[in-house]
Amino acid sequence: MPPVLLSLSHDFADALPALARPWSADPAPDPRLLVLNEGLAAEMGLDAAFLRSPAGVALLVGAALPEGAQPVAQAYAGHQFGGFSPRLGDGRALLLGEVAAPDGSLRDLHLKGSGPTPFARAGDGLAAVGPMLREYVMSEAMHALGIPTTRSLAVVATGRDVLRETALPGAVLVRTAASHLRVGSVEFARGTGDIDVLRAVVDYAISRHHPAAADDDVPALGLFRAVVHAQADLVAQWMLVGFIHGVMNTDNVTLSGETIDYGPCAFLDAYDPATVYSSIDTGGRYAYGSQPYIAEWNLARLAEAMLPLFDDELERAVELAQEALAEFRPRFAAARTAGMRCKLGLRVADDEVEALAGDFHEMLGRARADYTSTFRALSDAARGDDSGVEAALGGDPALAGWLDRWRALGPDPGAMDAANPIYVPRNHLVEEALAAATAGDLEPLGWLTTVLSTPFTARAGAERYAQPAGPDFAAGYRTFCGT
Ligand code: AMP
Ligand code: MG
Repeated sequence: MPPVLLSLSHDFADALPALARPWSADPAPDPRLLVLNEGLAAEMGLDAAFLRSPAGVALLVGAALPEGAQPVAQAYAGHQFGGFSPRLGDGRALLLGEVAAPDGSLRDLHLKGSGPTPFARAGDGLAAVGPMLREYVMSEAMHALGIPTTRSLAVVATGRDVLRETALPGAVLVRTAASHLRVGSVEFARGTGDIDVLRAVVDYAISRHHPAAADDDVPALGLFRAVVHAQADLVAQWMLVGFIHGVMNTDNVTLSGETIDYGPCAFLDAYDPATVYSSIDTGGRYAYGSQPYIAEWNLARLAEAMLPLFDDELERAVELAQEALAEFRPRFAAARTAGMRCKLGLRVADDEVEALAGDFHEMLGRARADYTSTFRALSDAARGDDSGVEAALGGDPALAGWLDRWRALGPDPGAMDAANPIYVPRNHLVEEALAAATAGDLEPLGWLTTVLSTPFTARAGAERYAQPAGPDFAAGYRTFCGT
């Protein structure tokens, strides 16, 4: 085979050996590249033509790595649906190493579905084509919406079946990330009982993601505060586009502030804060409207894990943690209000934005209106055409008064177009594309990813991608995790 045109460092494995288990991918009997993200490859300084070659595909399934690569499964813990699991870790994933991108950043190159690791417990370590393509579509859609996220470089069919309810074709997702450090990584480090391990994780996260924290009087506290801010900003962005993560366990919360782990996630259609799509979230813990509260709860778990580094005296450490955590709510509110100001096309003070946004959401809720298209219809209203918003809000008696109040503030339709997407990965469209792809037809998926790559710009021929599903589809829609 020709040489591998890529070099991989092993920064994480070197810095944090207590969290890294050397491991390698299971062989894929008949690897076939299903999708390659050429734009992302270019951003990372990777040669797309090489990645399409047999040697490139072998790299993408972890079979032929550059010399010196040291792939590892990462250890982490996590609070799952409120309960603590001290040992989760990459059960079906591997960190191949890090790539130094041309912009100077270090990006993890990571496989999902690459075979069971020492953390696999009862799992088979594998993944099916459908869910891996789903992560590809959702994460790239989030990126195009301007929301921090892990990215998807490729999906490769392995040629091996995966047994779920039936036998399904297996695949590996090649994911990139600022890093895979999570709240659960810190919880795991704390659980080792070795303060030096905890300190090493914190120092590594500071140097890789939040370097300004190194100058804080208490760097660990500086890191905690930076993660609080990053997560507040992130969840505000989710709320503004109607994204429901679906499984906000602490092992799925990054320290970098990127969205991670696209399992049972979905976009809101009919506006209702209680919306849950995930089949495993029977209690509605991770409902759309609960996400900010859950993010704050998860950050409290992070603070607990870090307490020994905040102060030697427990009481003082708790006080410092509480002070820093108290920054979450105002930070989240400010980010949400700033986003709503753009969505409404206004340049007015916070309280005015909040009052208008609150009343608009009440109308959305009363009509169970489609979240994405109703906001976009407001741009038309700013240009003088109220028909879309009137159709969506079903003759709400408060609408005329609301439109008068809003229009008096001079909304800017161009600014609104840049803040309110036309296209989001609607559940019915994603399912349709995945069903075709699983049956061997990748064209609908290619078209869907193309449309989602420029979500704010109308595209001729893509009209149905802007439309909500019929009521029959929406009512019964469920997403599945860990598949
Ligand atoms: P998730 O819900 O996808 O965040 O995964 C939670 C935990 O379950 C992680 O430790 C995963 O590595 C593990 N896991 C999920 N699916 C599998 C699988 N098929 N085989 C092994 N481990 C898995
Ligand atoms: Mg996970």
